[in-house]
Amino acid sequence: MTIRRRCTERNCKDGRRCLAHLRFDVMWRGKRYRMPVNEYAIPRMEPGKQRPIESMEEARDWERLFIGEIKAGRDPHRVPNPSSNISTELDDVAAFLDAYLERCVMPACEASTPCGARPQC
Ligand SMILES: [Zn+2]
Repeated sequence: MTIRRRCTERNCKDGRRCLAHLRFDVMWRGKRYRMPVNEYAIPRMEPGKQRPIESMEEARDWERLFIGEIKAGRDPHRVPNPSSNISTELDDVAAFLDAYLERCVMPACEASTPCGARPQC
C-alpha cells in the first residue's frame, strides 16, 4: 500500500477518514520514500490554487506523480521549477531536464503504453 490511510498524528479527530495527514509510503529499488501528501502536492499545484487535498481520488492522482518522480530518479522532496520558467530557460540544462521529465517521462510512466524510447521508465 502506497498511501497510508490511517492517520498517525496524535490528537487527530478524523482518524481513518483523515485527509490532512495522509502520507505516501513507497518502496522503490530497496529505498523507502515517505512524505506527507500535502507537503508533496501543494507546492506542485498552480499558484493561486494551492490548497490541501480534498479526496482520496486526488491523493491517488498525486501518488502517481510521486511514484513517477521516484522512478525518474528525482528526489520528491525537491520541488521542480515552475513550468512557466521552462520556455525562457532552455539554455539552462537543469531547467531543460525538468521540462523533459515533466513532459515526456512522467506522462509515459503513468500510461500503460510501452515506453522503450525512454529508458528512465
Ligand atoms: Zn489526521
